[in-house]
Amino acid sequence: VIDQGQPEHSVTTTCAYCGVGCSFEAHMKGEEVIRMVPAKDGQANHGHSCVKGRFAFGYATHQDRITSPMVRDSIDQPWQEVSWDEAISFAAKRLKEIQKKHGKDSIGGITSSRCTNEETYLVQKLIRAAFGNNNTDTCARVCHSPTGYGLKATLGESAGTQTFDSVMEADTIIVIGANPTDAHPVFGSLLKKRLRQGAHLIIADPRKIDLGNSPHVKLDHHLPLRPGTNVAFINAMAHVIVNEGLEDKAFIAERCETQAYQQWYSFISDVRHSPENTETITGVDADQLRQAARLYAKVDNGAIYYGLGVTEHSQGSSMVMGIANLALLTGNIGREGVGVNPLRGQNNVQGSCDMGSFPHELPGYQHVSNDALRSKFEQHWQVDIDNEPGLRIPNMFDAAIDGSFKGMYCQGEDIAQSDPNTHHVEAALTSLECLIVQDIFLNETAKFAHVFLPGSSFLEKDGTFTNAERRINRVRKVMAPLAEKADWQATMALSNALGYPMNYQHPSEIMDEIAQLTPTFSGVSYQKLDELGSIQWPCNDSNPLGTPTMHIDDFPIGKATFALTEYVATDERASRKFPLLLTTGRILSQYNVGAQTRRTENQVWHDKDQLEIHPHDAQERGIQGGDSLGISSRAGNTVLTAKITERMQPGVVYTTFHHPESGANVVTTDNSDWATNCPEYKVTAVQVEKVSSP
Ligand code: SF4
Repeated sequence: VIDQGQPEHSVTTTCAYCGVGCSFEAHMKGEEVIRMVPAKDGQANHGHSCVKGRFAFGYATHQDRITSPMVRDSIDQPWQEVSWDEAISFAAKRLKEIQKKHGKDSIGGITSSRCTNEETYLVQKLIRAAFGNNNTDTCARVCHSPTGYGLKATLGESAGTQTFDSVMEADTIIVIGANPTDAHPVFGSLLKKRLRQGAHLIIADPRKIDLGNSPHVKLDHHLPLRPGTNVAFINAMAHVIVNEGLEDKAFIAERCETQAYQQWYSFISDVRHSPENTETITGVDADQLRQAARLYAKVDNGAIYYGLGVTEHSQGSSMVMGIANLALLTGNIGREGVGVNPLRGQNNVQGSCDMGSFPHELPGYQHVSNDALRSKFEQHWQVDIDNEPGLRIPNMFDAAIDGSFKGMYCQGEDIAQSDPNTHHVEAALTSLECLIVQDIFLNETAKFAHVFLPGSSFLEKDGTFTNAERRINRVRKVMAPLAEKADWQATMALSNALGYPMNYQHPSEIMDEIAQLTPTFSGVSYQKLDELGSIQWPCNDSNPLGTPTMHIDDFPIGKATFALTEYVATDERASRKFPLLLTTGRILSQYNVGAQTRRTENQVWHDKDQLEIHPHDAQERGIQGGDSLGISSRAGNTVLTAKITERMQPGVVYTTFHHPESGANVVTTDNSDWATNCPEYKVTAVQVEKVSSP
């Protein structure tokens, strides 16, 4: 690391990588960031950071940044650089022509969990007010949409219940389908601190994760469940607790809806959910599971943390509800040290959901079919809003292939690379008459675009991100947008060109509008954020300083509801043709499809994605470490390098997805969650064969 000397000034802002939302001081010389220093008073990170936030900011000024808008008539033509006015007029004209020819519902858009709350709010407003439909969705569709659905259905609010610091009061910690030391490193460190103090640890994961091997951390149970069997597992945990009378009867009587509980009780008591009867499904030893259930139920404070290994399944929403059931059953809700804690992937997954990006919900999870709620927005926006939900992302792709969906605005999301079943996505994108991509780099999706609007990085704009603990953090501009406009300004220009006027002078005005229309944000303003440092929503008259712990006295729905979570096996099962199950994850130094981290010094810590395979499966196929392997599924084929490791259980293989050339999503299928269409990235039946040796 080259010492860049003393800064001339510094600006407090928020990391744009993961859902921990660490605060940083950007040390500046003029408009150049010379280093990022974790803020000691950062309320999510308390002066800590990981290698991504600390070192991987150089992508913002990387030579690959596109700084001029571009257009082309068709995707086989070269790009033409044009002015912002020309690009916006081109896009608006095409969208209007499409709507004239194919109807108002023939276009839509996708918001990004990478962008600020204010930008996300504006994109969904553009779609509802200027496009005139509800065809708005967020890339959170493909990660945590089951969290929103499952927690709203059971606890009444689509968000996690705790602060990160709450873990320091936990006695037993269950980590399900998450790898916090790699994917949420600053929270992972806090978790380890609590574990070193003696808290019990239960990990439910098909793969051995580093957390369980950390020095001075005692792993009580690793429950290596088979991919796709989460719901059978969580039901068995609840069955043990009910069967052994370990439930918190007082909490259930006082805080939970009686009839729903009685129905659930008779469902879960059935012997089909016993650890012995589910062992053949999950692969988890019945005795280990029984001990783990007791360890969670018997301590004062039991906390559950989960990640995409819970949500990205055909039963993702059922599993989220199953986790909520378990917390309710044991009274582990409504105080420090307990709770249901989704570890959100991207920096603003929580925010992009809060801001009304979903086709059925306006900002603050206010349903479009509710006349009173919709009319509040109609009056404020001076426009009629459709009372029917619009298209979700996979429905947009299907409609594009059918020929009824022709135009898309995609902000800050590389759908061609990050969505499952790449061949299907590419077929959909190819059939569009107008694809507008707004991004900082010419990403894979841009290959199918007609308009490219250069995006702005987190260093080039003001706004807010909301982290996994509902904490709204300020993002502060440290340099002028390289392409002259920040993303929110480009969205505003498109709206104006389409005939729906938007005229915000600063993102703080957008937040003021959000606060007026969203009850959980009614007390939020930039001034208050500056005063308090950050705010955890709900922030309103009842909670003017925000709400660190949810559901202390009651639930937004009055009493919480137990949900029936019947286990249904996924279609992605090992077969003679595809005998192994592929699951996916991240490493510490890289981030998602790597568009940012691969353009920073962090590249030195990683060269390419590998396929982790158990020695038994490798030996059966004559595979040595470093061999080139062909991976095939019913969706497609790709090639990865072999890494033989006992981290994996036999029958299960694993890869990361940080490099476009490894094409992990070429093999993932379009199976998805029954309630939300979140793709089943975590289970793909594959065959693995040796192609060549190094
Ligand atoms: Fe950024 Fe997450 Fe690392 Fe914090 S833990 S520095 S938010 S990537």
